[in-house]
Amino acid sequence: MQGVGFRPFVYALAARHSLTGMVGNTSSGVFIEIQGTAEAAGEFVDHLRNSPPPLAMIDSIAIEEMDAKGEVAFVIVDSQAQPLASTPISPDIAVCAGCLREMFDPADRRYRYPFINCTNCGPRFTIIQDIPYDRPFTTMRSFPMCAACDAEYHDPSNRRFHAQPNACPVCGPQVSFGTLTRDAAIQAAVDALRGGLIVAIKGIGGFHLACDATNGLAVRTLRDRKGRGAKPFALMAKDLARVRRYAHVSEDEAQLLTAKERPIVLLRTLDNPELSPAVAPGNKYLGFLLPYTPLHHLLLGEKPLVMTSGNFSDEPIVKDNGEALSRLANLADAFLMHNRDIYVVCDDSVTRVFEKRELPIRRSRGYSPMPVKLTHSGPTVLAVGGELKSTFCLTRDDNAYLSQHIGDMENLETLAAFEHAFAHFRALFRAEPTRLICDLHPNYLSSRWAAGYAAEKNLPLVRVQHHHAHLAAVMAEHGCESRAIGVIFDGTGYGTDGAIWGGEILCGGFDGFERLMHLKYVPLAGGDASIRRPLRMALAHLWSAGIEWDANLTAVELRILRRQLETGVNCVPTSSMGRLFDAFAALIGVRETVSYEAQAAIEMEAMCDGLQIDRGYRFSLEGDVFDPAPLFQSALEDLRRNVPRAQIAASFHHAVADLVLRCCETARGRTGINTVGLSGGVFQNTTLLKLVTEALTRQQFEILTHRKVPPNDGGLALGQAAIGRVL
Ligand SMILES: [Zn+2]
Ligand SMILES: [Zn+2]
Repeated sequence: MQGVGFRPFVYALAARHSLTGMVGNTSSGVFIEIQGTAEAAGEFVDHLRNSPPPLAMIDSIAIEEMDAKGEVAFVIVDSQAQPLASTPISPDIAVCAGCLREMFDPADRRYRYPFINCTNCGPRFTIIQDIPYDRPFTTMRSFPMCAACDAEYHDPSNRRFHAQPNACPVCGPQVSFGTLTRDAAIQAAVDALRGGLIVAIKGIGGFHLACDATNGLAVRTLRDRKGRGAKPFALMAKDLARVRRYAHVSEDEAQLLTAKERPIVLLRTLDNPELSPAVAPGNKYLGFLLPYTPLHHLLLGEKPLVMTSGNFSDEPIVKDNGEALSRLANLADAFLMHNRDIYVVCDDSVTRVFEKRELPIRRSRGYSPMPVKLTHSGPTVLAVGGELKSTFCLTRDDNAYLSQHIGDMENLETLAAFEHAFAHFRALFRAEPTRLICDLHPNYLSSRWAAGYAAEKNLPLVRVQHHHAHLAAVMAEHGCESRAIGVIFDGTGYGTDGAIWGGEILCGGFDGFERLMHLKYVPLAGGDASIRRPLRMALAHLWSAGIEWDANLTAVELRILRRQLETGVNCVPTSSMGRLFDAFAALIGVRETVSYEAQAAIEMEAMCDGLQIDRGYRFSLEGDVFDPAPLFQSALEDLRRNVPRAQIAASFHHAVADLVLRCCETARGRTGINTVGLSGGVFQNTTLLKLVTEALTRQQFEILTHRKVPPNDGGLALGQAAIGRVL
């Protein structure tokens, strides 16, 4: 990987073993020539293999013997650009301990300098414009180094040897706040935040909107201005100890919070009254992250800050200063900017811990563009993902390069962000797709773009069914190449029969799939209207189950809905499990309308928090169709008997887990396959995931769950690519 201080590391190692020779980068890796005793050479290789520098990732080492050349020194040779070769690029890495020590040392020449970095830390992916990773190909190009920085940069024994973003207060980027600069700008931003203002802060992969998380008025104002509904905000706290004031942090979670990727980690809240309830209404989890840029360390004080993407609603995140002043004008009260350009946007990543393993929710900064390793080489393909939480996947050799989070591909702004990110990946990895892969849905913006691009370049286009891609994604990340049973539960995906699928039991591999079982179709009346109003979905389920209903709707709305369901006008049949969760949540009074995807399901899951879930309702399973009607009947009875709603919610979760087990046993009986892949957005629900994995484990199933890419549509492109490569 480029830009991780590998060559200076090798230089120092060679010196230690009294070896002469050379080390150099090529666009496809590193070559090292060493001359010395066999013993020293052996020790050198062992050390390289066993303790490489912190950010390096060694795929393989090939060794060849050659005649001694009589070299008298060890040298680092210049990078050689090889037009067609490709090598991974480092993601952006959180500031390291060494740099932080210097930044807080009044005697250091970078004292309180917010752009301090070294070969072990700092921006990479978001400032690189082309490879090889050298300063002229980064946005640091416009900052010529001063003599002191230049000396560090050229000294192989220095921590900043070839650190491309190397800079100092004399020669490097500077912050500004209105007309203020340097420390005065940072102090002014700190004061503004303390005073309850909303400050747009330029970071590594784009702007954040920040405010004091303990100031209810500030948080509510930010929510209103951003058009955010009730969707939780992420929080940044100065250190782990301060996170622990507001949330439970396990050993594994602490490790993830302090990892060099610095993701947002979902943590169980402690309900500290100091925190504004407007941060994460109705949510049992808080998304926390620790400071990852030097600037964050200078900004953070006692109180945690809301740190949310600098954008309005679902628009792409803002990255340029001019753009910020116009697009964030109505959102921010003040701007803390800097003059180091961001070449591509990269949102914060979101993750959580499940059973001691990482369960990614959004894979972006710190992770992308690290490749997911595939089991073998194959054609270079571009998979464009789905619609929501979009990412794309470009493969080259045995690497699957997943893009950073692009957003919901529903508007031209997001499409433009997609095109820019794709052009970037194409350049960085020298990858020209020979095949395009998109979702089966004909109207997805991503599918239409892929069709256009394929036609323009005269390339084949492969359309992949949504849930097949989910199954392939979880299989690909585990290197599973045979066939598996897929339990794919999510919100929306276009089926091969034109219906909206989402509660699917599949059996398949990369080369194809069979739909074994599915949730009974119910009419999705009015499409989006039923997604925003789960109550409508609940009524559709009751209608479908033949249960009389009367609900909190106006007479007119009720009449129209009834008519829609009866005539099928403006209705699409759906087997969506996500919608079933919504419907059930609405029925038991969790909420009737939602302001973000899966809100009702998330709040229903939160209700059964801490309950022992050892019994529940039961789906009826007839042939290939499972029917939730008995769940609704039982729940209505329980509601009449005043059974606590938390218990009803728990019984529902139990029913779904029990259903999965029954389906998998039937599928195993039919196919002889013992491996089960769990994917789709519903499996972000860890209450359900736990029940399901426990039940399947008891019956000796081999279970594949997501650890590298999200179970939601953010991981879809990996599955599409895995399928597209073999067809
Ligand atoms: Zn550093
Ligand atoms: Zn300098």
